[in-house]
Amino acid sequence: MFVVMAGGASEADINGVKSHILSEGMTPFDHQGTERVVIAVVGEIGPRRQRLIDRLSALPGVETVTRISRPFKLTSREFHPEDTVVRVLNATIGDGSLTVMAGPCSVESREQLFETADSVAANGATILRGGAFKPRTSPYTFQGLGVEALRYLAEARERTGLPVVTEVMEPNQVDIVQEYADILQVGTRNMQNYSLLTAVGRVARPVMLKRGYGATVEEWLMAAEYIVSSGNPNVILCERGIRTFETYTRNTMDLAAVPLLHHLTHLPVIVDPSHATGKRWLVKPMALAGVAAGADGVMVEVHPRPEEALSDGEQSLTLEQFRSMMSALVPIHAQVRHLHGDPLPSAPALGVGGASGH
Ligand code: PEP
Ligand code: MN
Repeated sequence: MFVVMAGGASEADINGVKSHILSEGMTPFDHQGTERVVIAVVGEIGPRRQRLIDRLSALPGVETVTRISRPFKLTSREFHPEDTVVRVLNATIGDGSLTVMAGPCSVESREQLFETADSVAANGATILRGGAFKPRTSPYTFQGLGVEALRYLAEARERTGLPVVTEVMEPNQVDIVQEYADILQVGTRNMQNYSLLTAVGRVARPVMLKRGYGATVEEWLMAAEYIVSSGNPNVILCERGIRTFETYTRNTMDLAAVPLLHHLTHLPVIVDPSHATGKRWLVKPMALAGVAAGADGVMVEVHPRPEEALSDGEQSLTLEQFRSMMSALVPIHAQVRHLHGDPLPSAPALGVGGASGH
């Protein structure tokens, strides 16, 4: 449920509501709009619901107490109607601009990373990606350079000015990864690793949460809810394909998830056509489709010599193919930009607006 404070509610009224929520063993998350404050009440309510609604409704400064109908609360549009905008160094994700995360699947060497980073930066990438700790299906394939790769990524950030996103696989890697990276990626295999979600929820870095390859949209948003309810509001969702009966593609890119997510949640949505298709020649059309469907951007794998890549060479774009994708993507994005401003079919009229975050 959430408590909508009256326009003229004082600081003391707001604090009174929050301390009452705490005294009931629940957690308050407040969201400051332009006119009002909305306070979400999260935790296990159980049979106390009606009593709690009655008590909160009677507190000074409270206008209404409303149920959030969906199982995800803090990530829902109902609670937070405005888009979340994630800002990291010079990059802004979710404000209607085109986010392009590009770089190698794995960081293989300083030279390979720098060559890729220089080229994608020169051709419009806004964020540099590169795997340091790699979740590989086989224990006998390249597992990533680990901390050495994190150092190269930090050097590449200095070189290009691009913020860096890289995967963190375990809770005990969070500290070291956040020391070097600007955005922490949680991979498809870890989408429901709740101890990892809680751990990345406690750090002051945005998190890109990839969709589990067997996860429904609701399970995905519940995973995002773990991160946000742990204290980190800066979550970016990444559709990277789900497993279906189709085998020509590595996964099936769920394009409808893009507008669906914009309807259900305020979090930014990125598509990853590299892992979604597994085939280099399918990356460009699916990147264009993702952006046309309203995605806030794309993540693509790029390698100077994909045939020599230590992981995911088949789906990696060459430097030239990245350039060509960008020259098509930028005008498509300019055409569909207005989609972001579309009114939502059933947007709740909370009368809040403006600043995001809780
Ligand atoms: C990746 O982005 O490097 C990756 C491993 O992706 P996913 O978790 O989507 O397979
Ligand atoms: Mn990969």
